[in-house]
Amino acid sequence: MNPKSEIQNSYPSQAAVFLDRDGVLNVEAGYIHNVTDLHLIPGVASAVRRLNDLGIFCCLVSNQSGPARGYYPIDHVEALHQRLCQLLQAEAGAYLNSLYYCPYLSPPEGGTNPEFSLWSTWRKPNTGMLVAAAWEHNLDLGQSFMVGDKATDVDMAHNAGCRGILVQTGFGRSVLSGAYQHHTQPDYIATDLAAAVVWICEQLGNL
Ligand SMILES: [Mg+2]
Repeated sequence: MNPKSEIQNSYPSQAAVFLDRDGVLNVEAGYIHNVTDLHLIPGVASAVRRLNDLGIFCCLVSNQSGPARGYYPIDHVEALHQRLCQLLQAEAGAYLNSLYYCPYLSPPEGGTNPEFSLWSTWRKPNTGMLVAAAWEHNLDLGQSFMVGDKATDVDMAHNAGCRGILVQTGFGRSVLSGAYQHHTQPDYIATDLAAAVVWICEQLGNL
Protein backbone atom coordinates (compact mmCIF):
# COMPACT_ATOMS: atom_id res chain seq x y z
CA MET A 1 0.00 0.00 0.00
CA ASN A 2 1.13 3.50 -0.75
CA PRO A 3 2.31 4.87 2.62
CA LYS A 4 0.79 8.29 1.93
CA SER A 5 -2.68 6.85 1.57
CA GLU A 6 -2.37 5.38 5.05
CA ILE A 7 -1.49 8.79 6.41
CA GLN A 8 -4.39 10.39 4.61
CA ASN A 9 -6.76 7.79 5.97
CA SER A 10 -5.52 8.47 9.48
CA TYR A 11 -5.59 12.27 9.46
CA PRO A 12 -8.19 14.44 7.75
CA SER A 13 -6.59 16.85 5.30
CA GLN A 14 -6.60 20.51 6.20
CA ALA A 15 -7.18 23.81 4.45
CA ALA A 16 -4.14 25.98 3.84
CA VAL A 17 -3.46 29.59 3.01
CA PHE A 18 -0.78 29.89 0.34
CA LEU A 19 1.04 33.19 0.24
CA ASP A 20 2.98 34.80 -2.56
CA ARG A 21 6.07 36.64 -1.34
CA ASP A 22 6.92 39.83 -3.25
CA GLY A 23 4.10 42.35 -3.18
CA VAL A 24 2.09 40.32 -0.67
CA LEU A 25 4.36 39.74 2.35
CA ASN A 26 7.23 42.07 1.52
CA VAL A 27 7.29 45.33 -0.38
CA GLU A 28 7.72 44.71 -4.13
CA ALA A 29 11.25 45.87 -4.97
CA GLY A 30 12.22 43.87 -8.04
CA TYR A 31 15.14 41.50 -7.57
CA ILE A 32 16.39 42.09 -4.03
CA HIS A 33 20.19 41.94 -4.08
CA ASN A 34 20.73 43.07 -0.48
CA VAL A 35 18.98 41.09 2.23
CA THR A 36 18.39 44.21 4.31
CA ASP A 37 16.34 45.69 1.44
CA LEU A 38 13.55 43.21 2.16
CA HIS A 39 10.82 44.96 4.17
CA LEU A 40 7.44 43.69 5.30
CA ILE A 41 4.27 45.43 4.09
CA PRO A 42 2.57 47.03 7.13
CA GLY A 43 0.01 44.76 8.78
CA VAL A 44 1.33 41.58 7.19
CA ALA A 45 2.95 40.11 10.30
CA SER A 46 -0.25 40.52 12.35
CA ALA A 47 -2.28 38.97 9.53
CA VAL A 48 -0.06 35.90 9.41
CA ARG A 49 -0.16 35.70 13.21
CA ARG A 50 -3.95 35.65 13.05
CA LEU A 51 -3.80 32.61 10.77
CA ASN A 52 -1.21 31.01 13.07
CA ASP A 53 -3.47 31.51 16.09
CA LEU A 54 -6.34 29.82 14.25
CA GLY A 55 -4.12 26.84 13.44
CA ILE A 56 -4.37 27.44 9.68
CA PHE A 57 -1.42 26.12 7.68
CA CYS A 58 0.48 29.06 6.14
CA CYS A 59 2.68 28.27 3.17
CA LEU A 60 4.88 30.52 1.04
CA VAL A 61 4.79 29.77 -2.69
CA SER A 62 7.06 32.02 -4.73
CA ASN A 63 8.61 32.22 -8.18
CA GLN A 64 12.23 33.24 -7.62
CA SER A 65 14.01 33.26 -10.96
CA GLY A 66 17.05 35.26 -9.75
CA PRO A 67 19.30 32.14 -9.70
CA ALA A 68 18.19 31.09 -13.21
CA ARG A 69 18.84 34.60 -14.52
CA GLY A 70 22.31 34.54 -12.97
CA TYR A 71 21.51 37.48 -10.67
CA TYR A 72 22.51 35.70 -7.45
CA PRO A 73 23.12 32.21 -6.05
CA ILE A 74 20.34 30.13 -4.56
CA ASP A 75 21.83 30.67 -1.09
CA HIS A 76 20.79 34.30 -1.42
CA VAL A 77 17.14 33.29 -1.88
CA GLU A 78 17.45 31.24 1.30
CA ALA A 79 18.96 34.27 3.10
CA LEU A 80 16.06 36.45 1.96
CA HIS A 81 13.61 33.89 3.33
CA GLN A 82 15.49 33.74 6.61
CA ARG A 83 15.16 37.53 6.87
CA LEU A 84 11.46 37.32 5.97
CA CYS A 85 10.84 34.79 8.74
CA GLN A 86 12.86 36.84 11.24
CA LEU A 87 10.80 39.95 10.48
CA LEU A 88 7.50 38.08 10.82
CA GLN A 89 8.64 36.67 14.16
CA ALA A 90 10.02 39.95 15.48
CA GLU A 91 7.00 42.04 14.55
CA ALA A 92 4.16 39.79 15.64
CA GLY A 93 5.48 36.36 16.67
CA ALA A 94 4.19 35.10 13.30
CA TYR A 95 5.57 32.19 11.30
CA LEU A 96 5.21 30.31 8.04
CA ASN A 97 4.58 26.57 8.37
CA SER A 98 6.44 25.86 5.15
CA LEU A 99 8.15 27.66 2.27
CA TYR A 100 8.30 26.63 -1.39
CA TYR A 101 9.92 28.54 -4.20
CA CYS A 102 10.75 27.92 -7.82
CA PRO A 103 14.27 28.99 -8.86
CA TYR A 104 13.83 27.65 -12.41
CA LEU A 105 13.19 29.57 -15.59
CA SER A 106 13.28 28.25 -19.14
CA PRO A 107 15.82 29.75 -21.58
CA PRO A 108 13.09 31.35 -23.77
CA GLU A 109 11.82 33.17 -20.65
CA GLY A 110 15.29 34.42 -19.72
CA GLY A 111 17.03 31.55 -17.93
CA THR A 112 20.79 31.68 -18.47
CA ASN A 113 22.38 29.72 -15.60
CA PRO A 114 22.39 26.12 -16.88
CA GLU A 115 21.77 24.74 -13.37
CA PHE A 116 18.36 26.44 -13.15
CA SER A 117 17.44 27.10 -16.78
CA LEU A 118 14.64 24.68 -17.41
CA TRP A 119 10.90 24.62 -17.71
CA SER A 120 9.42 23.56 -14.38
CA THR A 121 6.04 22.37 -13.17
CA TRP A 122 6.82 24.46 -10.08
CA ARG A 123 6.82 27.79 -11.89
CA LYS A 124 3.55 29.69 -11.52
CA PRO A 125 0.97 29.50 -12.99
CA ASN A 126 1.83 25.79 -12.98
CA THR A 127 0.65 24.03 -9.87
CA GLY A 128 3.78 22.10 -8.82
CA MET A 129 4.45 23.97 -5.59
CA LEU A 130 0.84 23.62 -4.42
CA VAL A 131 0.74 19.93 -5.32
CA ALA A 132 4.04 19.27 -3.54
CA ALA A 133 2.86 21.12 -0.44
CA ALA A 134 -0.45 19.27 -0.43
CA TRP A 135 1.32 15.94 -0.74
CA GLU A 136 3.92 16.66 1.94
CA HIS A 137 1.58 18.30 4.46
CA ASN A 138 -1.73 16.59 3.75
CA LEU A 139 -3.51 19.73 2.56
CA ASP A 140 -6.92 19.89 0.92
CA LEU A 141 -6.41 22.16 -2.09
CA GLY A 142 -10.14 22.38 -2.73
CA GLN A 143 -10.57 24.04 0.68
CA SER A 144 -7.46 26.21 0.39
CA PHE A 145 -6.72 29.80 -0.57
CA MET A 146 -3.94 31.48 -2.53
CA VAL A 147 -3.14 35.14 -1.95
CA GLY A 148 -1.13 36.89 -4.65
CA ASP A 149 -0.57 40.20 -6.41
CA LYS A 150 -0.33 38.87 -9.98
CA ALA A 151 -2.74 37.31 -12.43
CA THR A 152 -0.43 34.29 -12.50
CA ASP A 153 -1.02 33.80 -8.76
CA VAL A 154 -4.78 33.71 -9.31
CA ASP A 155 -4.34 31.45 -12.34
CA MET A 156 -2.24 29.00 -10.33
CA ALA A 157 -4.87 28.96 -7.59
CA HIS A 158 -7.59 28.11 -10.08
CA ASN A 159 -5.42 25.57 -11.89
CA ALA A 160 -5.07 23.73 -8.57
CA GLY A 161 -8.71 24.08 -7.46
CA CYS A 162 -7.95 26.70 -4.79
CA ARG A 163 -9.70 30.02 -4.32
CA GLY A 164 -7.56 32.86 -5.64
CA ILE A 165 -7.38 36.23 -3.90
CA LEU A 166 -5.75 39.25 -5.53
CA VAL A 167 -4.34 41.90 -3.21
CA GLN A 168 -3.94 45.50 -4.32
CA THR A 169 -0.42 45.78 -2.93
CA GLY A 170 2.59 45.01 -5.15
CA PHE A 171 1.46 44.64 -8.78
CA GLY A 172 -2.17 44.10 -7.76
CA ARG A 173 -3.50 47.50 -8.78
CA SER A 174 -1.70 47.34 -12.13
CA VAL A 175 -3.22 43.92 -12.79
CA LEU A 176 -6.70 45.25 -12.02
CA SER A 177 -6.26 48.30 -14.28
CA GLY A 178 -5.06 46.10 -17.15
CA ALA A 179 -1.61 47.72 -17.20
CA TYR A 180 0.22 44.57 -16.11
CA GLN A 181 -0.13 40.91 -17.17
CA HIS A 182 -3.59 39.80 -18.29
CA HIS A 183 -7.18 39.93 -17.13
CA THR A 184 -8.00 37.48 -14.36
CA GLN A 185 -11.02 36.74 -12.24
CA PRO A 186 -10.08 36.49 -8.58
CA ASP A 187 -12.57 35.01 -6.14
CA TYR A 188 -11.93 38.06 -3.99
CA ILE A 189 -10.06 41.34 -4.34
CA ALA A 190 -8.52 42.57 -1.09
CA THR A 191 -6.82 45.83 -0.21
CA ASP A 192 -3.92 43.93 1.31
CA LEU A 193 -3.08 40.68 3.08
CA ALA A 194 -4.79 41.77 6.30
CA ALA A 195 -8.07 42.28 4.40
CA ALA A 196 -7.57 38.99 2.57
CA VAL A 197 -7.20 37.19 5.90
CA VAL A 198 -10.44 38.72 7.18
CA TRP A 199 -12.26 37.33 4.11
CA ILE A 200 -10.57 33.93 4.42
CA CYS A 201 -11.59 33.69 8.07
CA GLU A 202 -15.19 34.51 7.08
CA GLN A 203 -15.14 31.74 4.48
CA LEU A 204 -13.78 29.28 7.02
CA GLY A 205 -16.35 30.33 9.62
CA ASN A 206 -13.65 31.54 11.98
CA LEU A 207 -14.53 35.19 12.33
MG1 LIG B 1 4.21 38.82 -6.13
